[in-house]
Amino acid sequence: MDIIALLQQALDASNKLRDLAKKVGDADFKMLVADLHSALGDAKLESAELKLKLAAAQDQIALLQAQVKQKAAGKPTYTSEGVYSFDGETGRFCTSCWDVGERQVRLTSMSPEFDFAGKWKCPKCKAHYGA
Ligand SMILES: [Zn+2]
Repeated sequence: MDIIALLQQALDASNKLRDLAKKVGDADFKMLVADLHSALGDAKLESAELKLKLAAAQDQIALLQAQVKQKAAGKPTYTSEGVYSFDGETGRFCTSCWDVGERQVRLTSMSPEFDFAGKWKCPKCKAHYGA
């Protein structure tokens, strides 16, 4: 069961205790029940905050795992064509996308009527290569 739902159950139970404390009429008992109720309320708030922090941490882990995976793919080789190539990957890769953000972006071929600007183009940063 969800921690917040469990704490809500405890809060509901402490509400019943509070009603009982009124009937009993003992001041110390009333005080204790009030303390219990307030501590449970704090615990519920704290749990909600922890849930948010956990979700953020999990997002961060996923991002880092993706970066580690990309690092494991290896460093590129700068070829005589002025592009990068990666071991085990076919095609040519953008040098600026890798140098700036370590993103492996495969270059696409330019159509013949535009190849005066270059033979290949990065679909991400639009850089031209092989001119
Ligand atoms: Zn690029």
